[in-house]
Amino acid sequence: MVHTVETHHRQEDRVHHDDRAVTPGRGSRLATTYAPLPVRAATAEGVWVTDDAGCRFLDMLSAYSAMNFGHGHPALLAAAREQLEAMTLVSRAFDHTGLERYAAAVTELAGKDLMVPMNTGAEAVETALKVARKWAYEVKGVPQGRAEVIVASGNFHGRTTTIVGFSDDPDARGGFGPFAPGFVTVPYGDAAALEAAVTADTAAVLLEPVQGEAGVVIPDAGYLPAVRRVCDEHDVLLLADEIQSGLGRTGATFACDHVGVTPDVYILGKALGGGIVPASAVVGDREVLGVLRPGQHGSTFGGNPLACRVGTAVVGLLRTGEYQERARRLGAQLREELAPLLGHGLEEVRVIGLWAGVDVDPSLATGREVCEALARRGVLAKDTHGSTVRLSPPLVIEPDELSWGVEQLADVLRSLAGPGPAQG
Ligand SMILES: *Cc1c(COP(=O)(O)O)cnc(C)c1O
Repeated sequence: MVHTVETHHRQEDRVHHDDRAVTPGRGSRLATTYAPLPVRAATAEGVWVTDDAGCRFLDMLSAYSAMNFGHGHPALLAAAREQLEAMTLVSRAFDHTGLERYAAAVTELAGKDLMVPMNTGAEAVETALKVARKWAYEVKGVPQGRAEVIVASGNFHGRTTTIVGFSDDPDARGGFGPFAPGFVTVPYGDAAALEAAVTADTAAVLLEPVQGEAGVVIPDAGYLPAVRRVCDEHDVLLLADEIQSGLGRTGATFACDHVGVTPDVYILGKALGGGIVPASAVVGDREVLGVLRPGQHGSTFGGNPLACRVGTAVVGLLRTGEYQERARRLGAQLREELAPLLGHGLEEVRVIGLWAGVDVDPSLATGREVCEALARRGVLAKDTHGSTVRLSPPLVIEPDELSWGVEQLADVLRSLAGPGPAQG
């Protein structure tokens, strides 16, 4: 059955959306680590999420790119179902039939020798940091206990105590110290500042090729190549956190591909689990990941049969290039359709592939208010850092669905601007 935007989002749904209360539930037993938008999802299919009252919402967040292939992708569901029946966990104390196949698929996609399978993104970042330090001591010859890692301002690499210690977001780090030493922060996008921070003890540079949480911040095309050169000249590893930017989102398999940069280590997560299971990975060459010996790192669930099976199917989807191509084509459409909103409610628009950060004119509304208004119109999106709204629909979205989603944003901005003089 071919679903059109109209069949998915009928007029009565829209009325219902408008009527719903926007107060979060009181008496919740959840610690308040989130302030969710007032949407209670019940089921989802493709790019559409249905709430407990039967209202449909266009998913323009994709669980921060973990849902790149859409809800319930048939190939991923089939793989998961089959594996659920066969076997789900044996731990790494034993080998299992899907493990080497998964590692082969992921390393081939990345063009690397070895991988460490983990679960969440933060764990994969921690893994990469451990590897970089050990590499620095054993291969580069940095004196024990002195290894440094250079990170960028505005970074988001996860929520562990070590990782939040090198965040510059006061919410992320405030109250959680003392923090692990060994990290140096330089401005994102400034390769000269990065080079100036390199010392004989520098083990690695850890960067997002595009900063997602910061609001889809895209560095100049010369930045990553310059960082690559600095790393080569000073014998420093380049660790690319592609957890959000990788696996098709930007219109390439990896965001680094756009500027012809090959990092020493790819850090993958989010979409690797197909939106079904947490699956993350650290992928690099033997010279780097080979420093890990048995007993030095691990995870009870890392490389579990279910994650391996789903992750292998995800790589299978990416191998054709179809999703990367969709992200490029639909991204061009997204850029085109957002452009007229510049100066009409939006102060800045940043787009790479099917991924946009739009800065709302703060005199009109906060990003949160825009996202609440979008939810009332049947669109799921998420604000970040005050006035920015991030748009990252599943890569399976159809052109008319994407247009409809952007129209809702345009309507929200128009209504916020109020009944002023007609805008052209
Ligand atoms: C989401 C994200 C992480 C953390 O992943 P979790 O699975 O939430 O631990 C790390 N880095 C980047 C760039 C991310 O977007």
